[in-house]
Amino acid sequence: MTNRMTLRFVSLAENVGLARVAVAAVASQIAFSLQDIDEIKVAVSEAVSNAIIHGYQGRPDGWVEIQCDLDRTGLTISIEDWGVGIRDIELARQPAYSEDPERMGLGFVFMESFMHGLSVESTPGQGTRVEMRRLVTVSGELSRDAQ
Ligand code: ATP
Ligand code: MG
Repeated sequence: MTNRMTLRFVSLAENVGLARVAVAAVASQIAFSLQDIDEIKVAVSEAVSNAIIHGYQGRPDGWVEIQCDLDRTGLTISIEDWGVGIRDIELARQPAYSEDPERMGLGFVFMESFMHGLSVESTPGQGTRVEMRRLVTVSGELSRDAQ
């Protein structure tokens, strides 16, 4: 079984919840546990919040696009914005690094710890694309399909 979904919405904080629910609905089509799905939702929230808060710096009229690719072994999610971009991706991914002293700087840490793969592509002035993959596991082990 394979499934694909694209969702595009404007950079309003209200749409973080929409993104979470939509991705969870796709994820629930394969053998993820409820805990897996909760973790996927956290990772999606972090990436979408970053697009809205940092990418568009609070402007409400930028596009955010999510793509999901699902097969029996897992789910790949990409989250893209056409905002300010990231100058130093390695620095941005460091735990506790934030450009805003009021923030914890843990978004990328959550994405990394809850997903099995995370890649970040960004061009200053053009935007950012985060891709992450979550594999189906059985008691923490990869399922036979995924190996
Ligand atoms: P928290 O997620 O804990 O509220 P944070 O958003 O600052 O804090 P991360 O999510 O780890 O922490 O992101 C680290 C930094 O990477 C951000 O402070 C920001 O500078 C940069 N960043 C992340 N995503 C984007 C994006 N989509 N566009 C531009 N900059 C981004
Ligand atoms: Mg963040």
